[in-house]
Amino acid sequence: MILRQVGISPDALGLGEGIGGASVADRRRIWVEVQGDRLVAVARGEVADASTGRVGEGVPALLPGLVDLQINGFAGYDVNDPEVTAETVAAMAEALWKTGVTSFCPTITTQSFARMNRSVRAIAEACRQDRRVARSVIGIHLEGPYVSGEDGPRGAHPAEWVRDPDFDEFQRWQEAAEGRIRIVTLAPEREGSVQFIKKAVSSGVVVAIGHTAASSSAIRAAIDAGATLSTHLGNGAHAFIRRHPNYIWDQLAADELAAGIIVDGHHLPPTVVKTFWRAKGEERLFLVSDAVAVAGLPPGKYTTLGQQVELTPSGRVNLLGTEYLAGSALELRQGVVNFARFTGVSLARAWELASTRPAQLVGLGNELGSLTPGQRADFVMIDARALAQGEVRILATVLAGETVFGQPSAGEA
Ligand SMILES: [Zn+2]
Repeated sequence: MILRQVGISPDALGLGEGIGGASVADRRRIWVEVQGDRLVAVARGEVADASTGRVGEGVPALLPGLVDLQINGFAGYDVNDPEVTAETVAAMAEALWKTGVTSFCPTITTQSFARMNRSVRAIAEACRQDRRVARSVIGIHLEGPYVSGEDGPRGAHPAEWVRDPDFDEFQRWQEAAEGRIRIVTLAPEREGSVQFIKKAVSSGVVVAIGHTAASSSAIRAAIDAGATLSTHLGNGAHAFIRRHPNYIWDQLAADELAAGIIVDGHHLPPTVVKTFWRAKGEERLFLVSDAVAVAGLPPGKYTTLGQQVELTPSGRVNLLGTEYLAGSALELRQGVVNFARFTGVSLARAWELASTRPAQLVGLGNELGSLTPGQRADFVMIDARALAQGEVRILATVLAGETVFGQPSAGEA
């Protein structure tokens, strides 16, 4: 069966100069043709309708599916839940499809071997049970347990379980994961990091620096050993640090490192996002949600992973009664809108930082992340009119040629 879709081309999406500004005025058209799980043809045209010179009002914008390399939980589900099962993971995937995310790396944070092993197993089992989940989970992200024990850099990782890198332990998780661990975040100042990084990288795992208080030389050594990413740069850090040098400047300046950032407006102020963007450039920056279970739920008080938290109407997740962040409630699609607003880039370019770029950075750039013939048919259709108001309303999500949410509009054959 061949699926044909017509929509507004991403290149036509403005939204750079303030939301609602440039909007989708130009309305260039895009056609995609899907056979099986692949995009077999993609064409772009100047305008859609010869008589009016515009795409019809109801025509959606068509964009690559979003790729989230760091997400713990969503919509009440969390892979770090002590009771996590394959069903938790499948339900999380399904909830994410409704928000335009087609690929993600479920992210497991610091815990005992057994707790982390349970999470890893649940994810592997979910992938075995449902091929859509297997396609959507492009890898597991182990964030920890080899991270800093210092207050601040440690973030919410329990002090009791942070430890030095242990490749044998890691290999046991990798076996339980059936080879699915794709990213590991560690603090390079920990004993044995360089050897660990070399082994992990040569086994095909991407190494990220994060939750760290490392010196300049430790960061350099990690890069030389093969680390290529920074995890949520600017967060998982001390509240007060030496002005320079410090681990933020060092990572910011390293061209070998691409940085993930949480653009929810709470984790980093808009000026920092803009400055990181200027320093890193769009080739070395990607957006993550770093969301936890309360993401996607209504504002209120919740107990999650044994902690009492409050989700405020502005989308901040606080430890109840404090100003401390207890994770993010960001949906990646909103991160894209925020990024466009904070930096002034067009929405189409911002979208690439949450689709094309993360796919490339984990070695999947030829497989997914853009609307290119030969790639897996992962795309979303969004309401173009709502977009002009800065809202990403998902009409349909297609994963590997299969509709996993909504109804693709006219054009299905
Ligand atoms: Zn973190």
